[in-house]
Amino acid sequence: MAEKRDYYQVLGVNKNASADELKAAYRQLAKKYHPDVNKDKSAEERFKEANEAYESLSDPKKREIYDQYGHAGLSQSAGGGQGSEGFGDINDIFGDFFDNVFSGGGRQRSSKGSYRGEDLQVRLNVSLHDAAFGTQKTIKISHTKPCARCSGTGAKPGSSPKICSQCRGAGTINFRQGFFSLSQTCNKCHGQGRVIESPCETCHGHGKVKVSEPITVKIPPGVQEGTALRITGSGESGSHGALPGDLYVVMHVESDPRFERKDDDILVDHKVSITQASLGAEINVTSLEGKVVLRIPPGTQTGTVFRAREKGIPHLGGRGRGDLLVSVIVEVPAHITDKQRQLLRELSATFGESESIKEDESFIKKVFGK
Ligand SMILES: [Zn+2]
Ligand SMILES: [Zn+2]
Repeated sequence: MAEKRDYYQVLGVNKNASADELKAAYRQLAKKYHPDVNKDKSAEERFKEANEAYESLSDPKKREIYDQYGHAGLSQSAGGGQGSEGFGDINDIFGDFFDNVFSGGGRQRSSKGSYRGEDLQVRLNVSLHDAAFGTQKTIKISHTKPCARCSGTGAKPGSSPKICSQCRGAGTINFRQGFFSLSQTCNKCHGQGRVIESPCETCHGHGKVKVSEPITVKIPPGVQEGTALRITGSGESGSHGALPGDLYVVMHVESDPRFERKDDDILVDHKVSITQASLGAEINVTSLEGKVVLRIPPGTQTGTVFRAREKGIPHLGGRGRGDLLVSVIVEVPAHITDKQRQLLRELSATFGESESIKEDESFIKKVFGK
């Protein structure tokens, strides 16, 4: 910089300005020139200039030196500090403007000490039927909520948290070491920027309390194993007015021994007799919603798969459904009556199998001695 401008001139105040007037003037400039707000290259210079001026004049000792010796007087002292390197978070500078966070305004302060609550995850077992058609379940959740007694401020009702005097609400302290400008979490407020002098007795100053409460989960039709349903705001409580986290309910779909699921199709085996398979039949197949009538043609072979359209699982969040795939198993009767045996022999003869059947009988005699 060619020539340093007068600090009072930089801030636009007169030499007798009070501390409050200095502060107000500085804020006006910082708001106008902060690099987060003003992308103009010259704004950055103006911002630094204002920072330096305010820092010097807001310190009574430095102001005294400056008034007496001008810039020359201050160039020997530590100087620098906050803002001469890096800019800090704009919310740190305007920390005081966000006091209303504590009065329940619900604004989210994104600077130090204010965090969105953590997300939570729970597993929920659902039957295949409920996964397919949807249901409502009530689950018990253990999470933190803002303390009702102090409205989440952590301060005893009737009192309020005070801005930390050490860091002026920033949560961090900036200092210089050699060429470097370093920043450190404020040890007085532990980075909160606020100090609670008389803590709320219910939450001991945390502003939140652990509660276990029922939450109703609406499960839409078509969920699968691992589908995560998000319940906004039902996670852990945020700190200092920040938003709460979300709750993720992860589906575990229980298996059903009657069915196999493949995407949104349902696979089922159905046994038919040799006569049904030979002659064709109307069969009652078990589906997710009770019996479904299926017509099988004459001469159906074992392992043939028939498709009952739209009798499977509804598509999640969309229209339509999967199918029911019926695999027909032709079952040979294990026990037959004499009459049935007689009929089968007659049937066999029509196929020209009489010799082979005799051979079979002699085989049985040999093995079992009948
Ligand atoms: Zn502090
Ligand atoms: Zn409380």
